[in-house]
Amino acid sequence: MNGKVVMECIDAAYVSIKQHADEIMVLDQAIGDGDHVFNLIRGLEALRGIRSDIEALDCGPALKLAATKVLSTVGGSSGPLFSSLLLGMSRACDRLNGDPRGYAQMYAAGVQAVADRGKTGKGSKTMMDVLIPVAERFHELADGEPAVPLILAELPREAARGMLATRDMLATKGRASFLGERSRGHIDPGARSSEIMIAAVCERLGKGSAAP
Ligand code: ADP
Ligand code: MG
Repeated sequence: MNGKVVMECIDAAYVSIKQHADEIMVLDQAIGDGDHVFNLIRGLEALRGIRSDIEALDCGPALKLAATKVLSTVGGSSGPLFSSLLLGMSRACDRLNGDPRGYAQMYAAGVQAVADRGKTGKGSKTMMDVLIPVAERFHELADGEPAVPLILAELPREAARGMLATRDMLATKGRASFLGERSRGHIDPGARSSEIMIAAVCERLGKGSAAP
């Protein structure tokens, strides 16, 4: 993985978030303030604005630059959280050697950085309800050494399960927690956007040139 692949993943996430923008906006209007998708688009557009800088770098520095850019351009809760994801992954890039286990560890390091920043785990109706189950499933699959296409097909399914599970949860973190019991019955916008981006990245990575 290098800066070019990092940029391909950013492009894939951007296209899919734009396609689902209205849906994510409605989700955040229901239990938040409606800005989540605009925060994401602002960040992804800023990353596309420094394309040549990202593409020129190796994986670690490319992710680190992306993390810095997201932190400086994206507000809301999700800016610092997604920046942490990228920064955590950037620190674990040295473990990559083509083995899926290295990618699972890199992703898990990113998720751990988000957990540290947001001070929450699973069950509080946030993006963590997608990010953590995907990290767990990634480890499980990579340890079993199945084919890379199988991993890339399964992770979006795990993300979708995690996203759907947020519907019945009570929000105990972030803006949605102000609603108390009224937060139940709505899918968390950050869980949905994370799922969308994970699916887009897996699809992109499965398309050959960018395969791990
Ligand atoms: P804000 O809530 O500040 O308006 P956004 O709308 O950009 O920020 O992001 C909202 C999303 O952030 C939520 O849907 C939730 O998934 C996620 N989130 C909020 N607080 C946390 C937290 N402490 N840890 C992880 N994710 C969080
Ligand atoms: Mg919001």
